[in-house]
Amino acid sequence: MTVALRAHHLLCMLTYVGKGYSAAFVHNFDGVVSRLASGEEVLVVEGPDAICAPLCASEGACAHCHGAQVRARDERAAQELAPLLVGGLPGAGSRLQLDGGLLARLRAQYASGHVRGACTGCEWAEACSGIAAAGYEGVRLRMAPPA
Ligand code: SF4
Repeated sequence: MTVALRAHHLLCMLTYVGKGYSAAFVHNFDGVVSRLASGEEVLVVEGPDAICAPLCASEGACAHCHGAQVRARDERAAQELAPLLVGGLPGAGSRLQLDGGLLARLRAQYASGHVRGACTGCEWAEACSGIAAAGYEGVRLRMAPPA
């Protein structure tokens, strides 16, 4: 199985601490985190993904996920993350295997601000910056480094 993620959610997963738009959104995000932590591959997609699913299930909210601003976030995230990933991911259709080492490298780049272009204008930007600055305390996606 693969977990469908749009590119900017490769950033959001780094700082997810169990907060989100609704209880259903958080419940679903927790499930996505569990799947990633258990080693399921990421399948990079365009548009709404596994994290968007509860918003798309509620009438009207899915428009946000299809919006030009959110798509621009994906493009920016893909541009900034590509040099950090083997094979220059993440375009749509790309697959990505997360592990603890990659997660740590992504979090280091995120904390340094090098991959935060997609976060510009996001309502969660201040909260995410605080989480990164606090050493990612409380984040829910944790993976052991490869042996
Ligand atoms: S600031 Fe917004 S886009 Fe950036 S990681 Fe946080 S929730 Fe995701």
